[in-house]
Amino acid sequence: MGKITDQGLSKVAKEDGEVTLTAFKKPHSFRTYDEKVRNCLMCRDPFMSTWPGERICARCKKSAAWRNALSES
Ligand SMILES: [Zn+2]
Repeated sequence: MGKITDQGLSKVAKEDGEVTLTAFKKPHSFRTYDEKVRNCLMCRDPFMSTWPGERICARCKKSAAWRNALSES
């Protein structure tokens, strides 16, 4: 009886520790960014930005990427 109780306790304690570690290992991967309309820095047109760092509309991003590709070659 005593042995069974000890094993049960140690197993529970270990599983609990693993759960806590796993929780600490997931820092901000599931953070949700607030989607909202922002003004494009390049053309000043309002566009749907999916995260705070997105300040350029898809159209300008395309043209910027196109320009970068041109200047690289
Ligand atoms: Zn733009």
